[in-house]
Amino acid sequence: MDRRNFIKAGALGAVMTVVSPISFSAYGNPTRRKGKSGRLNLSFDPYELQLRHAFNLAKSQRTTTPDVQVKIEYDGLTGYGEASMPPYLGESIASATAFLSKLDLSQFTDPFAIEEIHDYMDSVAPDNCAAKASVDIALHDLLGKIMGQPWYKIWGLDPRKTPDTSFTVSYDADPAEMRAKIDDAAPYKVIKVKMGLNQDKELVEAIRRCSDSPICVDANQGWTDKEQALEMCHWLNEHGCLFVEQPLPKEMYDETAWLRERSPLPIIADEFLQRLPDVRRAAQAYDGINIKLMKSTGMHEAHKMAVLAKALGMKVMIGCMTETSCGISAAAQLSPMADWADLDGNLLIANDRFDGVRIVDGKIMLNDRPGIGVKILK
Ligand code: MG
Repeated sequence: MDRRNFIKAGALGAVMTVVSPISFSAYGNPTRRKGKSGRLNLSFDPYELQLRHAFNLAKSQRTTTPDVQVKIEYDGLTGYGEASMPPYLGESIASATAFLSKLDLSQFTDPFAIEEIHDYMDSVAPDNCAAKASVDIALHDLLGKIMGQPWYKIWGLDPRKTPDTSFTVSYDADPAEMRAKIDDAAPYKVIKVKMGLNQDKELVEAIRRCSDSPICVDANQGWTDKEQALEMCHWLNEHGCLFVEQPLPKEMYDETAWLRERSPLPIIADEFLQRLPDVRRAAQAYDGINIKLMKSTGMHEAHKMAVLAKALGMKVMIGCMTETSCGISAAAQLSPMADWADLDGNLLIANDRFDGVRIVDGKIMLNDRPGIGVKILK
């Protein structure tokens, strides 16, 4: 099917969706469908994510994550997106709303012009990766609804190949709180731990006292000595760990390559890379990459990164920030391409606004809803 007929078929799908009362109520706001603009209409609202358990960082504790919820309306259909902005990434509600306020998507009459819209966003301002991701996700949700298909199908991916997701457990000095966190992780087949604090081994030992689940380790650049990092990799290998994410600071490129040559566990890049041009360099020092929509400016570039990483023989991990089921379901569309997934961000918050992909027996279960597979709850 050529592009013109593809769009025609998509438009037909949109008309069929509009006349169907079931999909009408399931995927959008009926009152919005009365006004057909033929242009993309962007709107956004700040939304503070409430964490179920406090995140313990090296020097502070965090109980909320700033977030901006985004909608793109077009011809009576609504696409949903979001920008989640943990403070360490350098974006904020103020920066995201300032960026989004500068965008004029009404100039675009063809929602399929994804590359053009990304070029336009990059021309408005550099960086702002999460803010750009919010637009990209909403656009993909909209396009999927126009075509009447979820993105994993549009990309030709097999939904049976979704991986198990890991569930993050952070250290707590209070044994009862520590136990509560491990109990929360019980339904999941893979546990993820954040390291680089002072209690790295205590955390793994606490988990091993009550769980045999494989453990993914994220050092968050927390180790600074390559010899000690190698020693930890051996110790973690003996304690049933699967891989180590970002063991050394991203600037320690040569040391990471040295570690990768000797480590019994795969070394995965997270902070080292953000977008597509970073993948090729990562291949020289890391075994795999952690792709996150909030770093990659959304699904369009994340898909390209996964394709390139696999072509380079690298492992692919799909990760997330604390996000609602909107961002998580968008990332999950890519997950059949992933060796590992860390898509627990929606499970860590108390005020999710969406119903989306589910985790069943620890495994990501994609649904048949078009777009990114979400339904708004409130
Ligand atoms: Mg990480």
